[in-house]
Amino acid sequence: MGHLASIALYLSVLVSLSFCVEKARFDFYRVYEATASDEIHLKIFQQILDYPDGYKFMTTPKMLIGSTAQLIVPPHKFGEWSEWVENFKIEVKLLSNNLQEMIDKEDAANQRQRRTGVYDWSTYRRLNETYAWMESLAASLPNDISTFIVGKSYEGRDIKGLRVNIGNAIGKPSIFFESNIHANEWIGSYATTYIMNQLLTSEHEDVKALLESFEWWFLPILNIDGYEYTWNVDRTWRKTRRPTQNPLCHGADPNRNSDVSWGAFGGSSLPCSAIYYGDHVFSEVEMKQFSEFIPTVPNLFGYISFHSYGQYIMTPYAVSRNAADDFELINEIGAKAKDAISAIRGTEYSVGSMSDFFGLIAGTSVDYVAINQKPKLAYCYEISDTHIVATEEIQAIGEELFASVKAIFKEAITRELV
Ligand SMILES: [Zn+2]
Repeated sequence: MGHLASIALYLSVLVSLSFCVEKARFDFYRVYEATASDEIHLKIFQQILDYPDGYKFMTTPKMLIGSTAQLIVPPHKFGEWSEWVENFKIEVKLLSNNLQEMIDKEDAANQRQRRTGVYDWSTYRRLNETYAWMESLAASLPNDISTFIVGKSYEGRDIKGLRVNIGNAIGKPSIFFESNIHANEWIGSYATTYIMNQLLTSEHEDVKALLESFEWWFLPILNIDGYEYTWNVDRTWRKTRRPTQNPLCHGADPNRNSDVSWGAFGGSSLPCSAIYYGDHVFSEVEMKQFSEFIPTVPNLFGYISFHSYGQYIMTPYAVSRNAADDFELINEIGAKAKDAISAIRGTEYSVGSMSDFFGLIAGTSVDYVAINQKPKLAYCYEISDTHIVATEEIQAIGEELFASVKAIFKEAITRELV
């Protein structure tokens, strides 16, 4: 082998050995709040959803005239975006001129506030920390608390939750919490674990009574592969991580993948889209197993799903403009939930159906459960008014949502619905 050839070989080995997956950076990416005031603006939103090329919505835009959406604009699109804003008179507000700063701030807080051996809500947690904490709760009261496994994710992780049945009595109504079906909506799983902890540790008699009246099921992180990916590679990742027909684009939106008029509306057939509905119904193994697990939950009475953001408490359906059968009842109880939130520190949520707020969406988890399992009360929350929720906010938001959930199920008892 010639001298040059061996140097080339040495260099290529060096390059391949030193390569590892890096974390996505969003330096100088801007975050705007944009209002869709007419059909053309909605077309622009749709164009961005179908062909993002670096643009990204912080959460799904509602696709309704008059609605606002938080949009990430990459530096190479500043020219194009400013022309669109100018030419089509889009009303915009600059929320951040450097998304990376927001992510760095969150990272720093996560590092600074992490204390080994203590699980609290001063910071976001890795999957294994949350699982270890749930295991320790189960070990502390083995007769009343146990972990459950929904199945394995595409990448082979256990989809794990916690089941609490104080006194282990048979026949209690069950309440099921589902969160982080969207990987980047971190606040959702911390709301779930916060509520779990409050229920288990509160000294208040009303909370103790509530805890004992139901069987509680908590599934903090449904989309665990996506969640790990948000920590390891891309904080803005929303979907699952399964390869699609397009080798460059991974994952489907798990909240578009269920067997509820699958693919009919509110999603995309394009694998690179953030709202890609998947190759077929339940193509995402997490959702397939979830759909098989839910019917095994005995006597399902309440179903709560946490997303972010928007400050909404939503009732079924997303798939139809028709109201749920008990719409009046669940709306009235939703209003109690809203009041309980605003009583904490004045935060205002709105109550209405999913299709009222977001337009028609097929394949959501809440509709799937509402239609097939018919829990008496089903709600989908959009937590907070922003997507990357500061770590200092976790506890306060947890407090609001705990009050809200308490209000719902206390009201259910008062009205003798259980
Ligand atoms: Zn979501």
